[in-house]
Amino acid sequence: MHFSEAFSKKHIVFDGGLGTMLLAAGLKAGMSPDSWNITNPDAVRAVHAAYLAAGADVITANTFGSTKPRLKRVSNTPAELVEAGIRLVQEAIRASGREAYIALDLGSLGEFLEPLGDLTEEEALAYFREPIEAGAAAGADCILIETMAALDEALVCVKAARLFGGGLPVLCTMTYDPNGRILTGEPLEKVVAALEDAGADALGSNCGVGPEQLVSLLPRFLACAHKPLVLQPNAGLPVYQDGETRYLVGPEAFAEQMEILANGGVWGLGGCCGTTPAHITLVSALAHA
Ligand SMILES: [Zn+2]
Repeated sequence: MHFSEAFSKKHIVFDGGLGTMLLAAGLKAGMSPDSWNITNPDAVRAVHAAYLAAGADVITANTFGSTKPRLKRVSNTPAELVEAGIRLVQEAIRASGREAYIALDLGSLGEFLEPLGDLTEEEALAYFREPIEAGAAAGADCILIETMAALDEALVCVKAARLFGGGLPVLCTMTYDPNGRILTGEPLEKVVAALEDAGADALGSNCGVGPEQLVSLLPRFLACAHKPLVLQPNAGLPVYQDGETRYLVGPEAFAEQMEILANGGVWGLGGCCGTTPAHITLVSALAHA
């Protein structure tokens, strides 16, 4: 299946939280989730299988942190983790008997670019190049840039994806606060325009807030975006309980808000932290109805 078919659909369902599912499966906080592609592949494949059973059309590979700056305590290279991560999605798809798209997932390098930090654009471009080339070679159908908090880094990552991604579609979602600003302060109107200029094929928001906050922000996205929107909120705003971060919006309440987003014209619907296959099952039912 070519990803261009996905763009012709009214709605496409992404999967839900991956990191939070791996934590629930025993990943220790502070460990590299991506390293499990090599050391605990069964656990990663099981999460993909659960989202395939839930009806997700796009399965996100466990490669969010497969960039050199985020792997300081991991012996594997970004390319090794990406190859293994894409392969696990392929295996899960084959076992499911379903068709689904594979997203190479990319997150922040975890460092700021100049002048806020020390990273130069050339360095950032080179860091993103390795997983992008590995993902394209391994068989990814699209490149999903997620949880970006700094606009300059997101733009460099989109640029790298377009330069080194072998023509794969580039989707970029930023993390907004409830007022529609990213960490580096820009309002979503400015962010959307910049991502479209950089050549993103779809854009939107993931993590940070819950679906209710995105329902409030939707009119602003619709007013400025010319590309398909992808919205993957958390299962509500995080709540700190007993020293742990929890996400308390259950599948039904989550799906109720996602239905408003779907009816409002949002193309890509999925979930981030705290969302589970149960959340995505209900989102899939309404999006594919
Ligand atoms: Zn998240």
